[in-house]
Amino acid sequence: MNNEYLLKHLRNVPDFPIPGIQFKDVSTLYKHPKCLRIMVNELYEMYKNKGITKVVGIESRGFVVGAALAYKLGAGFVMARKPGKLPAETRKESYMKEYGKDTIEIHTDAITDKDVVLLHDDLLATGGSMLAAYNLVQQFNPKLTFINFIIELTIEGLHGRAVFPEDVDITTLLKI
Ligand code: AMP
Repeated sequence: MNNEYLLKHLRNVPDFPIPGIQFKDVSTLYKHPKCLRIMVNELYEMYKNKGITKVVGIESRGFVVGAALAYKLGAGFVMARKPGKLPAETRKESYMKEYGKDTIEIHTDAITDKDVVLLHDDLLATGGSMLAAYNLVQQFNPKLTFINFIIELTIEGLHGRAVFPEDVDITTLLKI
């Protein structure tokens, strides 16, 4: 069920970054002490018994709650970053965006086949960026991979979940 308190504090910015987009601005949830606590605590309750050893946050809005959750779960935190940002050897995955190609990277030594991974980002729209992150994590052959978003957009015919394999466990805190 949607958390009305979170929904009330989420800012919608019309026509950002381009006309026609209703931008869900999670910075208003991150800056609000009670909202931040609600999100981290709810996710902790959802994942505390899953044996998560690594939380992977997607740059950059996935870093905020992802890192707080990793701390609370007693897991490590891994950054999935845009190309050229990570200093050591990386694994990469490229994917198609509306205009051209994009790539994400994770340090080669950040995940092992003994890890249980939780991938986290702020928002699911088409699912393209998270699918790339999911495929990237599969290169490390982890024991299990979970996916979580704070917000799932289902308006305007979006059905981002459909791009993932059916057996992948995907949760979201808010559906809009
Ligand atoms: P997608 O790959 O289409 O699922 O897009 C997800 C990524 O784009 C997330 O990292 C979001 O931060 C960002 N994003 C896409 N659409 C929106 C939106 N309407 N409001 C806020 N962020 C968005």
